[in-house]
Amino acid sequence: MNNIQLSDFRRRLRRWFHHNRRDLPWRRSSDPYTVWVSEVMLQQTQVNTVVPYFERFVEKYPDVRTLASAELQDILKSWEKMGYYARARNLHAAARVLANNGLNNVPPDLDAFRELPGVGDYIAAAVFSIARDHPVAVVDGNVKRVLSRLFLIDLPISTSAANREFKGAATRLLDRRRAGDFNQAMMELGATLCRPKRPLCDRCPVSPHCEAFPVGRQAELPVRARRRAVPKYHVAIGIISKDRRILITQRQPTGHLGGLWEFPGGKVRPGESPQDACAREIEEEVNLCVEVTDYLIHIEHAYSHFKIGVDVYACTYTAGDVKLQGPADYRWILLDEIDEYPFPGANHKFLDLVKQRLRDAR
Ligand code: SF4
Repeated sequence: MNNIQLSDFRRRLRRWFHHNRRDLPWRRSSDPYTVWVSEVMLQQTQVNTVVPYFERFVEKYPDVRTLASAELQDILKSWEKMGYYARARNLHAAARVLANNGLNNVPPDLDAFRELPGVGDYIAAAVFSIARDHPVAVVDGNVKRVLSRLFLIDLPISTSAANREFKGAATRLLDRRRAGDFNQAMMELGATLCRPKRPLCDRCPVSPHCEAFPVGRQAELPVRARRRAVPKYHVAIGIISKDRRILITQRQPTGHLGGLWEFPGGKVRPGESPQDACAREIEEEVNLCVEVTDYLIHIEHAYSHFKIGVDVYACTYTAGDVKLQGPADYRWILLDEIDEYPFPGANHKFLDLVKQRLRDAR
């Protein structure tokens, strides 16, 4: 695009965004902390899902100091079922770094912000441009889709060559005097009109500048690398009852689902029955002998890189004292206490059934 075309592109986009921006709760404030929380949540989660989580979160943790002084378990509870819990752990860790340095908001310096746990190029650019109009381009999945179609960029989308291309194109397009609105407008365009399937090109404000539209190549772009097959694991877990209490264990604080609570169990080995796997895993993990008494339910759950099929069993404690091999902590809890603990989404697929069965057994 030459300078005249660039000016026209920005003017069209600006005008469209002014009239069509969605009224989202994080857009009602330019507080950098609030923008930061919203961008962290939006990184892996759909807007409609994020809205209630965001509203509850900023009400409970309105600033960096409040977040820093909270217990991680309470924060994970606020994040429960939204997934990608490393985001919450990193946000909490970053808030603690800031609070320890006497700050109650995003630091004034972008490089200092970029050093915090969980703050990558995307979060840093989004927060600094949206909250402070810092002239830096934001490139997320929506923006990549728009750019790939605008400029017929057909490099596989997640390669470093493509990322350089997208960053360069976004930086050339950026309206440096209104970086926050420009970046939000590009993301909004990708989310609402330049959609992955059936983009609404007839309503697109920048269609006169789009290279894919006149040649009908929108559906081909962006180019995605072929996905690897996702492995699936068979898992058996046990709800162990002892004296009207049940055993829950806490995962190690880092890694997949770090810090969340669950029921003991693990992968079924080839040739092993799920009942035997349940008893064996419990003995290995928490050093208890149990009798596997009832089959409760089978659930399926998909994570980003693997899937699990889970057989859930009711178990009765028979012998042993808890000694942990793997989990970070454990509790024998009453049924009424279960909602105080954050559990992974897979567990929520059978928690209601477990509660009902335990109530019936009282
Ligand atoms: S014209 Fe269509 S493909 Fe091109 S940017 Fe607009 S919505 Fe996307």
